[in-house]
Amino acid sequence: YTGKTGTELLTEKIKSFKVQEYQSVPIVVKEDASVYDAVSTMFLEDVGTLFVVDGSSCLTGVLSRKDLLRASIGKQDLNDIPVHIIMTRMPNITICYREDLMIDAAKKMIDKQIDGLPVVKETEKGLEIVGRITKTTITKAFVELITDDQV
Ligand code: ADP
Repeated sequence: YTGKTGTELLTEKIKSFKVQEYQSVPIVVKEDASVYDAVSTMFLEDVGTLFVVDGSSCLTGVLSRKDLLRASIGKQDLNDIPVHIIMTRMPNITICYREDLMIDAAKKMIDKQIDGLPVVKETEKGLEIVGRITKTTITKAFVELITDDQV
């Protein structure tokens, strides 16, 4: 018997959840892709957040559903608008790393009021995108707090 309280055990468990174990596959588009392409990709890949990359596959921006909706209510042809015009760009992107705790990734999403974070790795060329953390990922981890004990 460890002498730990239920709260201590729960805290320990939450702190054992790392980004690496829960991250999903990042879906990316190139900077010169059109808004039309981004909308298609969002539907085909069934994601709510797309990451934008430059020619060396490094992170340059983020596109949310609302970014694309906002661009779609104008009169312009969506094939003619490149995503780099409408994306949220570096250095204003909130990121996380594989070794980070899920609880810290969750706090970042709450603080910045965003639905997802790119999981990145630093390289000489810039930030390589290795994964994606979203509110769904956090929900899965939350559910695991219970289901693990009961199976
Ligand atoms: P939506 O606006 O579609 O509900 P979000 O809340 O995720 O989705 O996005 C809100 C705004 O924040 C958008 O303009 C989006 O580009 C931006 N955004 C989304 N994710 C990030 C991030 N990781 N870092 C910085 N900005 C982000």
